[in-house]
Amino acid sequence: MLIGGRRKSRIHFEGISGNCPHCGNSKLSVQIFIKYGHVFWIPFIPFGKSTYLYCEHCKLVLEEDKIPTEFVSQTTQITSGIKTPKWTFAGLGLFVFLIVFAFIAGSFINSAGNKEQDDYYAHPRVGDMYDGMTLFNDGYVVYKLVEYKPNEYKFLMSEYAAETILGLTNIKSKNQYSNDTLLMDSSTVKEYRKNGTFLGVHR
Ligand SMILES: [Zn+2]
Repeated sequence: MLIGGRRKSRIHFEGISGNCPHCGNSKLSVQIFIKYGHVFWIPFIPFGKSTYLYCEHCKLVLEEDKIPTEFVSQTTQITSGIKTPKWTFAGLGLFVFLIVFAFIAGSFINSAGNKEQDDYYAHPRVGDMYDGMTLFNDGYVVYKLVEYKPNEYKFLMSEYAAETILGLTNIKSKNQYSNDTLLMDSSTVKEYRKNGTFLGVHR
């Protein structure tokens, strides 16, 4: 469950000159709040500031649009001098950081995996298992390399085909292969890797 919402925090407090429009006392101040969205109480993104006129004596609080004109130039000057605090972007920063991190980690893992596959394809060994599709593309099978000479691959195809790629585990555990050999040259193997007939080599 995602918990989020809006919150408000006071970021500035400053006394101003003048008398309270309600009680006439001179203990007036400007209070500035920042509004921000949070996710799990982590400030995510700021929505803007709100300014209030506050009287310490009678506790009068006036919202920005109700501040008497005589105070407006003072309050707007103070408000415009207050920057949006960086912590209100914390969640957004964390989010961007995690995405960048996941992207870098992902591409690193991917390139490591590809490197291993490149190596298996470049230096085949008898016993290598090629996960793949049938030549008619109607099921998932395992091709087992039973003989290899440069430019001549001899494969046996698994006796059974699976409907989904997940079924390949079961097919491997059955360990049953057809007696008909499939002969392929290097360019065919390369082509099958490219067009997805071969999905990956396991050793
Ligand atoms: Zn007052």
